[in-house]
Amino acid sequence: MAQTIWIHRLSDAKKADTDGMEYICEHLFQALTQTGQLTKAKGFNPFQNASAKDGTTYRALFCDSCAKNYNNGNVRMAKEPVLV
Ligand SMILES: [Zn+2]
Repeated sequence: MAQTIWIHRLSDAKKADTDGMEYICEHLFQALTQTGQLTKAKGFNPFQNASAKDGTTYRALFCDSCAKNYNNGNVRMAKEPVLV
């Protein structure tokens, strides 16, 4: 059973830092929240078609551990910041 990867939508201003990716995983989001900028320390893995269970695809940037965990369909959009 694959672990859910929570993603957060980026503001337009931030997309410039992510090679146009529109969403980032939980861990990158937390780092961004804490430091105010995107760090590549946790990894920088763009997925053009990260897919959710319902088939929706997202252009998402994952950290190294999320990139490893990713399976088709295990991405979920976070409505609110989710702290793990
Ligand atoms: Zn992650």
